[in-house]
Amino acid sequence: MLYKRSSALFAEAQNYIPGGVNSPVRAFKAVGGDPIFVKSAKGAYLHDEDGNRLIDYIASWGPLILGHAYEPVIDAVIEKAKKGTSFGMPTEIETELAKLAVSMVPNIDKIRFVNSGTEACMSAVRLARGYTGKDKIIKFAGCYHGHSDSFLIQAGSGAVTFGSPNSPGVTQGTAKDTLLAKYNDLQSVRDLIEANRGEIACIIIEPVAGNMGCIVPNHAFIHGLRDICSEEEILLVFDEVMTGFRLGKGGAQEALGVDADILCFGKVIGGGLPVGAFAANSEIMAHLAPEGPVYQAGTLSGNPLAMAAGLAMLTELNERHEVFDSLAKKTEHLHKGFESVLKHKSVPYQINRFGSMISVHFTDAPVIDFETSAKGNNETFKNYFHGMLDKGVYLPPSAFESYFLNDALTYDDLDETIAALERLEL
Ligand SMILES: *Cc1c(COP(=O)(O)O)cnc(C)c1O
Repeated sequence: MLYKRSSALFAEAQNYIPGGVNSPVRAFKAVGGDPIFVKSAKGAYLHDEDGNRLIDYIASWGPLILGHAYEPVIDAVIEKAKKGTSFGMPTEIETELAKLAVSMVPNIDKIRFVNSGTEACMSAVRLARGYTGKDKIIKFAGCYHGHSDSFLIQAGSGAVTFGSPNSPGVTQGTAKDTLLAKYNDLQSVRDLIEANRGEIACIIIEPVAGNMGCIVPNHAFIHGLRDICSEEEILLVFDEVMTGFRLGKGGAQEALGVDADILCFGKVIGGGLPVGAFAANSEIMAHLAPEGPVYQAGTLSGNPLAMAAGLAMLTELNERHEVFDSLAKKTEHLHKGFESVLKHKSVPYQINRFGSMISVHFTDAPVIDFETSAKGNNETFKNYFHGMLDKGVYLPPSAFESYFLNDALTYDDLDETIAALERLEL
């Protein structure tokens, strides 16, 4: 395939936008080469600026669970736009989307809309701190909760008690309030609580992780977290920005059978427009301004176009909840196909899957946390990524990302993808 126009557009973009992109993972740093510029997309396919058609496995990193340019969503946005795009005053559609979201997720009473997953997680943690009157939070190495300062903390080597900033610009003062635990390791959480008893406001986690590849929490770990939080009066925050309205109507909470205290949403809830949200029961949410003292605001929060897209998306998912099963079956088909191909190739591999999230890691040990995910062979991943791209399949350009299936993918698309892998030299 040729990517001449994409490469030229990327060169031009780099003159005016740092690194040529508005979000770093788009730049292909992990896999090398120039990013693909999209011209349009429909259903399961991306059409790039060079006229190539690609089968898409990122779905805009999750939101487009029913495929690109999904008509009910597009129509809703167009109709809404004709009536004005922003008012800075309340609109009825905000309540409609709130009411629907609250009805789909069993243990929340109220929800506040923001503009991104980053804002949702940042605000959820502020609310947890305001509610509990405590400063520290526990996060897990390899989990991503957006780019706000408290979350840009990664494990140093060995056992970690205090986080150290891994991005310049995050102060030590901020970093010291973020404690790092290991995913799927309950003891690492117990140790942190022991050393910081009475100081921890919340534990925030991706209930099914998608930012170190797809990693499934083991049963004892995720249920154990719930128990520990209840015993220690720590709030459990599920960052369901990726999993919410993707793993089922009730998200990962429903799929895993665990209730969190505060939920963060993004991606699917905006149907492809910029929406994030956080939610909890009425008692916790009553601490939020203007009802309570914890401040949080946004000029474009609850924007009518974004609400229209979100409402159209959630309405579809609510009415057709068999779509979650259909997606899980398609993902299983891809998993089995990849498995049958990869076992005849000479590279070690692991495939992790949950619902419509899946990832391939080129390593021989099970991938259960950041450390085991980081052991994947990146040279093999690069060959795999570029080989698949050349055969018309667009996978996430980093081994640390989950694939997101969309329901416009047909079994023929999946088989074409599996056949592409078969033809690949790894
Ligand atoms: C994408 C993501 C975020 C950040 O959302 P943005 O809309 O990119 O700010 C937060 N948490 C998780 C789990 C995510 O996948």
